[in-house]
Amino acid sequence: MERRKIPSKERYQIYAKYNGRCAYCGQPITYKEMQVDHREPLAKGGADTEENYMPACRMCNHYKHTLTVEDFRKQIGLLCDRLRARTYIYNLALRHGRITENCDPVIFYFEKEAPRDN
Ligand SMILES: [Zn+2]
Repeated sequence: MERRKIPSKERYQIYAKYNGRCAYCGQPITYKEMQVDHREPLAKGGADTEENYMPACRMCNHYKHTLTVEDFRKQIGLLCDRLRARTYIYNLALRHGRITENCDPVIFYFEKEAPRDN
């Protein structure tokens, strides 16, 4: 799918949308680090327009890839199960109380914070 080149003025507006934070995890990101995610993936018929752009950190953008927001939510919700099933050091840390799991429903940053008007 051909992507349009996003002019820098528009990139700044996308960056400012959630006050310099990733729209998904809420991590502060620099303008340079920001990746522009398509909330509804192009591969799934999403538009290549400003309304569909979300500022994202590299990790969220990579993991979301061509997932819809709801599929991304499901995948994030499965992370503890995956870590428990596959990662010795994670289980050791859990057993020793070094980490605690959060099994609350996944709520993305953009769902808690209203976008900033430009
Ligand atoms: Zn993120």
